[in-house]
Amino acid sequence: MASIFSRIAAGEIPSYKVAENDKFFAFLDINPMAKGHTLVIPKQEVDYIYDLDDATLAELNVFAKKVAKAIEKAVPCKRVGVMVLGMEVPHAHIHLIPINKESDMLLSNRKLKLEQAEFEAIAQKIRDNI
Ligand code: 5GP
Repeated sequence: MASIFSRIAAGEIPSYKVAENDKFFAFLDINPMAKGHTLVIPKQEVDYIYDLDDATLAELNVFAKKVAKAIEKAVPCKRVGVMVLGMEVPHAHIHLIPINKESDMLLSNRKLKLEQAEFEAIAQKIRDNI
């Protein structure tokens, strides 16, 4: 069965899409640690990011860089923090999280609850900066 993230990339499950090409897809995390918290995935269904072949891993990171630069412009922050966990969803993904201080990256932080309109406005702003 396709992973939940494959189904999101295929448009079977709705998401707030930020960027896409033939190999990669970026969308807002539904339980964001900060406004603009984005997940970047390869469309190839691999659980562990370091099981990707070298070329795909490199391309994924370059794609994530493009998205991170757009997030920096769209969301006021000092920089975009990068995190890879994969403890919840078994489909490789990079978290891009706008941060102002170290503690903004703590997983124990309370997640934001945003309205649909706010998610859409953030996604649009990031898309506008890509
Ligand atoms: P991880 O696997 O890196 O530990 O965490 C998975 C991340 O994916 C979490 O931050 C969670 O909020 C996010 N997530 C899980 N399911 C969905 C979903 O259906 N849609 C979106 N947009 N994000 C999800």
